[in-house]
Amino acid sequence: MNVPSYFADAESSLDEAAVVLFGVPYGRTSSFRFGAHLAPLAIRQASWNFETFNFRTGKDLRDIPFHDYGNLEVEEDKPSEMVKKTTAFVTTLLKKEKFPLALGGEHAITPGIVHAFPQDIAVVSIDAHLDFRQQYENEPYNHACVIRRLADHLPIDNIAVLGVRSAEKEEFEEAKQQGLFFIDAFTIHEKGMDYALQRAQRHLKQKKIYLTLDIDGIDPAYAPGTSTPEPFGLTPFDVFACIDSFASRLVGFDVVEVCPPYDNGETALLAAKLIRYIIEHVGAA
Ligand code: MN
Ligand code: MN
Repeated sequence: MNVPSYFADAESSLDEAAVVLFGVPYGRTSSFRFGAHLAPLAIRQASWNFETFNFRTGKDLRDIPFHDYGNLEVEEDKPSEMVKKTTAFVTTLLKKEKFPLALGGEHAITPGIVHAFPQDIAVVSIDAHLDFRQQYENEPYNHACVIRRLADHLPIDNIAVLGVRSAEKEEFEEAKQQGLFFIDAFTIHEKGMDYALQRAQRHLKQKKIYLTLDIDGIDPAYAPGTSTPEPFGLTPFDVFACIDSFASRLVGFDVVEVCPPYDNGETALLAAKLIRYIIEHVGAA
């Protein structure tokens, strides 16, 4: 594909930008399909497909200053080192009052980002999986342990997981016992995303929100190119609704688990489109 290597329309310098995109090309803890480390490149390439004008909102991305920093150098790191480096980087962004927008990589990158934030924020995670294991394959920073690691940093009441439909039995019981707030995909299908969002809003009150989108939360019919696909998922419209619902209080965002070797391009396109939608909402127009 003959397109520039940065995210489309990211024409601002770091200083001018309100939103800073960065890639965290990490894929070393994948348990089923490998290749999530290739996602930042694939998503950036896909981003050139779209018009700068958003038909739905009437906004134009050229009016919003945002910067593409490039990738963090973490590919060869142990998970704990990758997390540390990511935290250090995001800390510098937050000091400059930038909105961090990360392109994963696996979900394992998210604790690195969230650990840079104060402990009074809340996290909304869209995911097919609970990700609540204490460790997986002897690794506490595995992608299957993300929510558990977030709960090391934040009060568990500050976390909401939407779209879940897969967990290990012990993991599920542990999450229940600790009072983790989650709404499964079947309930969302039955009662609607608005219902789920109203409940999540009530639970998280008026806290600032970090939104992490594990792309496998969306049904594999829409997002097949992912590491651990799980049928009976959310629709892209559900994710739109979630972004709309929390947009005014968003403080950071990541999209993770896009796996280009298993994609025909549609998953990267969807990720790029959602990123553009986030930028529009949070960037100063
Ligand atoms: Mn996940
Ligand atoms: Mn997942």
